[in-house]
Amino acid sequence: MSREIGIVGASAAGLFTAQLLSQAGRRVRVFECSEDFDPKPRTLIVTSFLNDILGPAADTAVVNQIRTFELFTDGRRAGITLRRPDLVIERTKLIHGLAAAARASGTEVLLGRRFLGMEHRGGKLALNVERSSDGISEDVRVDTVVGADGTASRVAKVAGWPAQKSVSLVQATVRLPQGLSPDTTRVWFIPDDTPYFYWLIPDSPTRGVVGLIGEDGPAARRALDRFMEKRDFTPLEYQAARIPVYSKWVPIRRRIGNSDVYLVGDAAGHVKVTTVGGIVTGFRGAHGVAEAILNGGPGYKLRALQRELGVHLLIRKFIHNFTQAHYSQVVDLLGERARKDLETYTRDEPGRVLWHLCLHQPRFLLLGLRAFLMGVRTPRARDEAQPAVTVRT
Ligand SMILES: Cc1cc2nc3c(=O)[nH]c(=O)nc-3n(C[C@H](O)[C@H](O)[C@H](O)COP(=O)(O)OP(=O)(O)OC[C@H]3O[C@@H](n4cnc5c(N)ncnc54)[C@H](O)[C@@H]3O)c2cc1C
Repeated sequence: MSREIGIVGASAAGLFTAQLLSQAGRRVRVFECSEDFDPKPRTLIVTSFLNDILGPAADTAVVNQIRTFELFTDGRRAGITLRRPDLVIERTKLIHGLAAAARASGTEVLLGRRFLGMEHRGGKLALNVERSSDGISEDVRVDTVVGADGTASRVAKVAGWPAQKSVSLVQATVRLPQGLSPDTTRVWFIPDDTPYFYWLIPDSPTRGVVGLIGEDGPAARRALDRFMEKRDFTPLEYQAARIPVYSKWVPIRRRIGNSDVYLVGDAAGHVKVTTVGGIVTGFRGAHGVAEAILNGGPGYKLRALQRELGVHLLIRKFIHNFTQAHYSQVVDLLGERARKDLETYTRDEPGRVLWHLCLHQPRFLLLGLRAFLMGVRTPRARDEAQPAVTVRT
């Protein structure tokens, strides 16, 4: 029980992992390169699973609730009224809440500490960490390391994991158009611009974020600017970063000497490849990593996450090649029962969504298969940066 854990990265996945391990009685230290807990603002939308995982601690981060999704494609519109509202959260508030909970459980959070490297020495892992206050680096000895340092994880690189593929998420804060209810999120499918989608997510009665996922950062930004200009949105400020594209399950543990190194969150690629959302799956990964550390090996929670990410990958493979006509067909095929399925099950239950949709509208399956095969025959240039989806989400 006295074995010490060092976590690199004090963001969503790292702080939640720290909290779980501290609560179990481990000594945990978190090393974060930023000097404060005020990361750049980022408006995020998550399912109500956030409440199930964090409990009331999630409440302080919630800035809005979404009850309706409006889907647009080629002049068509479909409305989905969620049974359990989605939550719009502000990342800075979430991080503050997680940091307070981790500290209250006994975690020591060290800000202004950049992880540079590590080596096995004297039966322990010596982490080389640089202090931003004076640029001096020191060695910190721990038994186990968890890399929660994001998409371009240095822990992963030093421990020998291969680099991850990633996509660019870019969004701009805008004033909401007249008449748009703040509890409604809009989604546009425009496959000529992106194999993913555009969104407008209100984060207050007057403002929201418009964004898209693209494979190339500058091209995504140009597409977003064109999209906003066409619809009269004036960008107030931009938020952007690269997020991993899940293409297959990668074991989250490696050995250095006789010590363990784990990855969690974006560093481990625990991101839904359908929507490129990583908050809830990152928390699930945190549960899985904590379980593996405490029990001496991966358990049920990591296997469940692996299955879930696999279903997202399957769905993405089906829809990644969708043309405008495919999306129009989806909207046309959305009968009452299929719509109810989308209202009842969330994107954090992909197995249930897929099963019920195929049961109630088998033509979705045919449509997906046809688009998948089309991509196999005629892969598009943009697919090169894609997951094991050499086909054409
Ligand atoms: C514009 C945008 C919108 C998004 N919208 C959504 C959304 O609506 N829903 C959703 O679920 N997800 C969304 N995401 C994705 C989501 O933000 C990420 O999946 C999530 O933040 C990942 O959390 P993490 O803790 O794994 O990593 P990160 O948040 O990337 O944190 C990594 C931490 O490690 C620190 N660090 C890095 N290197 C070092 C080092 N060498 N030493 C010490 N510390 C280090 C960093 O400073 C940082 O604090 C969005 C992303 C973007 C960019």
